[in-house]
Amino acid sequence: MMKNTMKYTVILTLVAVLLIGAIVVINNNKAPNETEIARQEVDLTGQPLLGEEDAPVTVVEFGDYKCPSCKAWGEMIYPQLVDDYVLSGDANFSYINVLFHGKESVLASLGAESVYKQDPKVYWDFHKKVFDAQPEAAHHDDVWVTTEKLLEIASEYPSINQEQLRRDIDEELTMEQVITDKELFEEHQVSQTPTIKINGITMEDPFDYQAIKEVINRELEVDKNE
Ligand code: CA
Repeated sequence: MMKNTMKYTVILTLVAVLLIGAIVVINNNKAPNETEIARQEVDLTGQPLLGEEDAPVTVVEFGDYKCPSCKAWGEMIYPQLVDDYVLSGDANFSYINVLFHGKESVLASLGAESVYKQDPKVYWDFHKKVFDAQPEAAHHDDVWVTTEKLLEIASEYPSINQEQLRRDIDEELTMEQVITDKELFEEHQVSQTPTIKINGITMEDPFDYQAIKEVINRELEVDKNE
């Protein structure tokens, strides 16, 4: 009797060990797929780029000049990102126009694309000043983007031809670039602004700078090991 009980115990233990072993093997096989992150790189051909072109990490903002959260992101997160990663050459940054707020989103985008086309060097400064011009606590229906306003902002840059800028906006001469951006935000299924992508990985919360740093640092680690 005793012998039999022991035999069963041994068999049951063996079965249990084998089962646990099998589960571990299955999990290990599954792990790479499960932890693989959804990644869809953004085609940045012809887009403004801040920082080193060959930086290992690329951060893309899908933003809208009419979006108050984008203004806030530009004030709270963007400066840290530039200080911590862009200036060191670890990351570069690009911006894609999203057109969620109608005519004014389009106007501001036409203007920004014109400035970029005329002088890429002043683009980022102009870009920031358009967000600066967005009234504090703005509501989406407060009208503040006009051709005159964009011309006024651009007037401080001698390299920007005011007449060209006016025509690009009024005659929609930079609409092709705006449409390119529209196709990009549709392709990437952007449903809110700002949407931040790091090497093609969409951040769940664009205002969680700690999470942004973690993703960038991980991407830098991967780059180093390649
Ligand atoms: Ca663009």
